[in-house]
Amino acid sequence: MRPEILFPLFAPVNTLKGVGPRVAPLLERVAGPIVRDVAFLKPHTVVRRTPAVLSAARDGEIMTFELLIEEHQRPRANSQPWRIRASDPTGFITLVFFGRFSDQLEKRHPVGARRIVSGKVADDKFGRQMVHPDYMADPDKAEEIPEIEPIYPATEGLPARRVRTFVLEALERAPEMPEWQDPAYLARERFPAWREALGRLHAPESEGDLSPLAPHLRRLAYDELLAHQLAMAQRKAARRREPAARIAASAVAAQVQADLPFAFTGAQGRALADIRADFGSGERMSRLVQGDVGSGKTVVAMCAMADVAAAGGQSALMAPTEILARQHYETISGPLSAHGIDVVLLTGRDKGKARAEKLMALGSDQAAVAVGTHALFQDDVAFRKLQLVVIDEQHRFGVAERQRLQAKGRATHLMAMSATPIPRTLELTVYGDLDVSRIDEKPPGRTPVATRAVPMPRMGEVVQRLREVVAAGAQAFWICPLVSESEVSDLAAAEMRALALKKVLPSVGLVHGKMSGPEKDAVMADFADGKLSVLVATTVVEVGVNVPNATIMVIEQAERFGLAQLHQLRGRVGRGARESACVLLYDPPLSETAQQRLDILRRTDDGFVIAERDLELRGGGDALGLRQSGFPDYVFADPFAHRELIAAAGDDARLIIARDPELASERGKALQVLQELFDWKANFALRDAG
Ligand code: ADP
Ligand code: MG
Repeated sequence: MRPEILFPLFAPVNTLKGVGPRVAPLLERVAGPIVRDVAFLKPHTVVRRTPAVLSAARDGEIMTFELLIEEHQRPRANSQPWRIRASDPTGFITLVFFGRFSDQLEKRHPVGARRIVSGKVADDKFGRQMVHPDYMADPDKAEEIPEIEPIYPATEGLPARRVRTFVLEALERAPEMPEWQDPAYLARERFPAWREALGRLHAPESEGDLSPLAPHLRRLAYDELLAHQLAMAQRKAARRREPAARIAASAVAAQVQADLPFAFTGAQGRALADIRADFGSGERMSRLVQGDVGSGKTVVAMCAMADVAAAGGQSALMAPTEILARQHYETISGPLSAHGIDVVLLTGRDKGKARAEKLMALGSDQAAVAVGTHALFQDDVAFRKLQLVVIDEQHRFGVAERQRLQAKGRATHLMAMSATPIPRTLELTVYGDLDVSRIDEKPPGRTPVATRAVPMPRMGEVVQRLREVVAAGAQAFWICPLVSESEVSDLAAAEMRALALKKVLPSVGLVHGKMSGPEKDAVMADFADGKLSVLVATTVVEVGVNVPNATIMVIEQAERFGLAQLHQLRGRVGRGARESACVLLYDPPLSETAQQRLDILRRTDDGFVIAERDLELRGGGDALGLRQSGFPDYVFADPFAHRELIAAAGDDARLIIARDPELASERGKALQVLQELFDWKANFALRDAG
């Protein structure tokens, strides 16, 4: 199936010269299993050009200095390194050499000589050092040191320079490709041909070549985005070709809606209208309803389920946790059963006879709606006529899980719900194959959450205040971050915090990621029932959990969280009519960016605005928050620098697929090559996208 032209790039890495059984696994770890991955290994490029002064040396950076050799310090034992003490007018540095050098080094770099020295600076307990400088050149021969040099990731036993030789060889194997870009576009954007662009990545010629906006880097990014967008456009088109049952807006749904003690917001109304338009189209719906925590997605889903029930079909609403499933059940079963629509709750706790009865209800005319957890897609769960699947917090489920549930009906409509705000500019990369409705309006009457940033040294005051409000009957979340490599120590920190709070506050609970599902649910349920006044958690506080009595949210080391995450955490309070507060504890001093980020949270409560500003401020640098929102792991495309290319690639992909759905034209065939070229990455990226 794969075009022949790509064979050399899809060969395993051990086909590269010099890659034997020892090196292959190391190279795989650094780059990936195939030659293509090695050719796509993005270097971190350094400018060695002008020497810096030692007083400006920065730990961990690759820098260049002009130094005077002052003294050779021979090793006193074989295990010790050879050291050279060198200086410039602003300071000293020790050059360190491991291995046996005899007098070689002293001959080549005699005391009193000047050398241009380039390499990685290390400031540690041994003082300022450079271990094995990359270059030591006579100032007369400074041109031996490249001005700009790509540095590749390395691993134990495989140094960066060896990686570079493999990259260059992988590049040799990369063929000239049939052009998949539109010639007019190439000319307008000054895009080089693909192979030339890739070559330039590994051999930058000027500082300008390092900017993500350099034409060759934009071209590679665009190619990658186009490959991904094409895959999504194809899936969307395929879905449209599948006929699905038409479902009409019903009188029952109108009554269910009218029974609610509140009126829909405009945004809720629009989301429901979008769903009804899909229902009436005869095509299978795949719609994401996106809205902040508390924006009222569940009742929109409830009305859609009422329409399906009125048409004689069934719906399933799947939530990621038991407690969320229960909350949904409590929200919708009353209003629906008042109009004769029976709702069944099915979770992992249902066993034996009770479970058998519920399965019977779903297999017959009895129940029209199932609410539950993963228990819903187990093999023995059968529906009479499943027509709508609703997934809450859709990013918490894999595609396979969702499909298993959808497969219990024929051409089932899909409604996905998500509360993770994602900047508009990135929406296409995450949800390109779904239609999106945004609920960008909050129900009226919510009191805004007063948000304050407080430095850690003043935590005592926060705890004191907490004692007062808890004594008055309020409840609080206390979030400890999960940041370090070792979850164990983070957990220990959370446990310590819980212990410390227990000494001064009544009924403190702890929930963390290492607990089993039922254990977590039990603690959450105690908190929801008011048996606990304070819940200490390591970020796992279940997304979407509704505890109206909780009015305080304390977040430790708030500066370490992504803004979107902070916003979601804050969304857990301020649900009742009472005044709520969010306290962002931070370790001073805050960097300017960190300060700005926390300020945004204080100023706005709009998740979409927050996500957009966060992206701007981080410049796309921090991948963690993005990955949580489902942003794909692109090799070349940068979410911030290339954001305008995302829209362009999305438009182009849709146009291409509309004109040439099978990619059968000459250009279409070249585009097939492009898609194959990125296939693994694209598949990976699509994992959670729908
Ligand atoms: P989401 O799932 O989007 O986080 P929910 O559907 O759980 O939000 O709604 C949060 C709360 O707001 C629920 O108690 C719900 O009854 C209530 N609610 C929903 N829509 C409205 C509205 N238009 N006006 C007032 N309250 C609403
Ligand atoms: Mg919800």
